[in-house]
Amino acid sequence: MFDKAEFTKGVVSWKQLPRDGRPEIAFVGRSNVGKSSMLNAVMSRKKLAYVSKRPGKTTEFNFFLIDGKYYFVDLPGYGYARVSKSMREKWANLIEQYLDERQTLRAVVHLIDSRHPPMEQDEDLIDFMRGSDVPYLIALTKADKLSGNERFKTVQRLEKRLEEVGRSVPIILTSSKSGRGIKEMRGWLRDFLG
Ligand code: GDP
Repeated sequence: MFDKAEFTKGVVSWKQLPRDGRPEIAFVGRSNVGKSSMLNAVMSRKKLAYVSKRPGKTTEFNFFLIDGKYYFVDLPGYGYARVSKSMREKWANLIEQYLDERQTLRAVVHLIDSRHPPMEQDEDLIDFMRGSDVPYLIALTKADKLSGNERFKTVQRLEKRLEEVGRSVPIILTSSKSGRGIKEMRGWLRDFLG
């Protein structure tokens, strides 16, 4: 599983979403959080690695067909400085509609940089997911950059914040560099898709 990834399409509106009914998992996180690296690490054969980032395409939902059966959807983070305010709002709306209404969505993986406290957009997503039934997990990225004690504190702080969400949200410490948490990620993704 997770052997082959093919970029399928970039989507800018609801009506462009694939209609083939394949189950999908959305990966959300602001630019530079380590999303591409994480997806590459999840794909088991390095040589067939996940398609690299497409510069300048941060305002598209990027659909990757995995093993011919599922989609991984790279969702743009929102609130980027480079797009206008009205553009940001349009994006936030589309993302929210997608998270709320997309029938084939099996899980949302929210990537947060373990070195920084959640940013405003992260806080918004955490709050948004409170009202959702879709399985939700948080992957803290770049965990190799923290000491053991810092990792512990970061997870503890986030757990406290998540208590308000009122449902259990798994938190995984990951590092694409050291491979930490990648097996665990694969396990979760497999379960979501199974
Ligand atoms: P994206 O914009 O979210 O797709 O982020 P990238 O995967 O392109 O990574 C952004 C930067 O963070 C790059 O310089 C990566 O080398 C670095 N990076 C990504 N993952 C890790 C990690 O696990 N550990 C460390 N130390 N750096 C990472």
